[in-house]
Amino acid sequence: MPSTVTRRAFVATLVSSAGCAALDVNRAHAAASGQSASAAPDPGLIPDLVAGNHILVRKGVIQINGHLSARHTANKNRFFLARAIAPETVAAADIMEFDLDSNAIDARGRTAYTERFIHSEIYKARPDVMAVVHAHTPSVLPFATSDIPLRPVYQLATFIGESVPVYKNGDRGEVVANVEQARELVRVLGNGAVALMHGHGEVVVAPSVRTVVSRCIELELNARILQNILAMGGKPVYLRPAPPAAQQGGGGGFSRDWDAWIQEEKRLIGR
Ligand code: MN
Repeated sequence: MPSTVTRRAFVATLVSSAGCAALDVNRAHAAASGQSASAAPDPGLIPDLVAGNHILVRKGVIQINGHLSARHTANKNRFFLARAIAPETVAAADIMEFDLDSNAIDARGRTAYTERFIHSEIYKARPDVMAVVHAHTPSVLPFATSDIPLRPVYQLATFIGESVPVYKNGDRGEVVANVEQARELVRVLGNGAVALMHGHGEVVVAPSVRTVVSRCIELELNARILQNILAMGGKPVYLRPAPPAAQQGGGGGFSRDWDAWIQEEKRLIGR
């Protein structure tokens, strides 16, 4: 078994340079196969995407079937999303590049998530969005599938607006598996930061990976607080929503939160 020091060194490599190395491989393969390769994204993007997957699992936002994507910072018509594996196991080599029709640029045998159309249609419709999460968060689901609206009761969750809209896909909470369903979800999302999916889950969008991760965590907390108020038999006194501009661009993404989560991530992997 590797020593703690070796493992820590490995984690440092994973978080810093491996993302770039994996992307170099992606670009070389894409060039060899005749597909147009994009310029490199910001060097921090893939490491953030990998760490974000792990953080969202640890914070109870996503489980086996959730996913986090990021728009390419150097090509607005491309985005990055892991291949279809459990988010807690995602590493830089698992990150695939897609166009805005959800075609993989260079799949190399890797399987893509069925629900990737959620991401591509949001990026197509919302130039302000740079990161998307689709999740089935246990604390959020009761509001997706009942007559109780999800509204802000916690200061850091006022970005959700006055009340989170609900998209309904059939009577069985079906997955979004094509462009038409994804477009309807995007219509329900509108210019907001969050949409619920009846009997299924939610989508959360933001102008960066760090902000979308932060928003998901605050949304999850807001849902639990609201459930507690209702379980206590109380009447929620809802907060005033953030102004529309803040619902799009602002909210969450505090660097001290992210720094703490990364430290926790390193401690856990180095354990
Ligand atoms: Mn789903």
